[in-house]
Amino acid sequence: MTFWFKIPLWQRVVGALILGIAVGLLWGEGAESIKWIGDLFIRAIKMLVVPLIFFSLVSGVAAIGDLKKLGNVGSRALLLFVSTGVISVTLGMTMGTIFKPGENLNITLPEGAEIPKPTITSPTEMILSLIPENPIMTMAQGQILPLIIFALLFGIALLRAGEDAAPTIRNVDAAASIMQQMTMLVMELTPFGVFALMAWVAGTFGWEALLPLAQMVLLNYAGCFIIILIVYPIIIRGIARLPIIDFFRGVIDAQAIAFSTASSNAALPVTLRCVQRNLGVSKSVSSFTVALGATINMNGTAMYLGLVALFGAQLFGVELTWTSYFLIGLTATLGSVGAAGIPGSGLIMMSLVLSSIGVPLETIAFVAGINHIMDMMRTMTNVTGDATVAVAVGRMAGEIDIEEYESDDDI
Ligand code: ASP
Repeated sequence: MTFWFKIPLWQRVVGALILGIAVGLLWGEGAESIKWIGDLFIRAIKMLVVPLIFFSLVSGVAAIGDLKKLGNVGSRALLLFVSTGVISVTLGMTMGTIFKPGENLNITLPEGAEIPKPTITSPTEMILSLIPENPIMTMAQGQILPLIIFALLFGIALLRAGEDAAPTIRNVDAAASIMQQMTMLVMELTPFGVFALMAWVAGTFGWEALLPLAQMVLLNYAGCFIIILIVYPIIIRGIARLPIIDFFRGVIDAQAIAFSTASSNAALPVTLRCVQRNLGVSKSVSSFTVALGATINMNGTAMYLGLVALFGAQLFGVELTWTSYFLIGLTATLGSVGAAGIPGSGLIMMSLVLSSIGVPLETIAFVAGINHIMDMMRTMTNVTGDATVAVAVGRMAGEIDIEEYESDDDI
């Protein structure tokens, strides 16, 4: 038992992935009999969605501090968060369109699988559906978009209420960390879920199913590298007008932690330290930009959601219209905002993107097995993005110590 827990989770997951594939290939169709373990894992993930999003988002907004700050620095940060998010989803969709990772795979749906109907059919309906008629019903029905809007408004109202709201802010923060702990617990199921899902995929579909998945992993990594090595440097040079090398030297610790834990939240303390001490951004700007960014700024996740949406549509032969592309852009950007900075939350958000364009949720079962490997890379992208925005906003607000930024004595 101790031996098992001593192995880092990501290593257990990669081990389970490889073992699952091997067992599935040997066992063939019989592997279907253990698929229920994978379903159990997916159900457990779904269980977390509503409370996790609500508490993480509210505490993220509350972390900004006061409304004046929210107006000044917050709006700049949000603008950068949103624009890099949109660029990232577009990149994911573009790569999915060019390389078609789901196209060579002609499969039939597993028996008894339900094909979910698209919940939203037009942009007007989409806009209307953003506003919850009844927040409790929204939560009960697991409608994520209106839940995000309600949580954001709730957070803003908390800030407006000032001192009166202090106990609630504390409680919401506590609830957010409880939900994160709960997610960590569920993540312990990942190796078993991944094993069962991979065995089922490999056993039922054989090599033909795994090849496109390998391509998915490569595309995911390539997309993340493009964001880290091209998009962020453009912001650092173009907006912050600062040298790029110093930026990467200063942020590498946070990147390493993000990659190995697959959690923006786990990397948060290190990211903060890197941004403050290595990159010289003032305490006030860095603390709320990075803390908020860990919750809402997830470019790797946005890129991934765009890519998976295309993958799923190709896999199940769902035709995409311009409206579909718009919906993917919107739901993937919002999904990346709503995803918590914990392992696997991008996977949870996939159902939002897929159901908005009528792509079967079984797509999730296909990518769940390779999720963690991709999660590590997209988390590294997410965290690098938080540091990028903190530097850019710090520079615009005149709250960055250039000497510190350029100095070599990084910790
Ligand atoms: N694990 C990612 C993060 O913490 C989110 C995701 O699953 O995409 O940033």
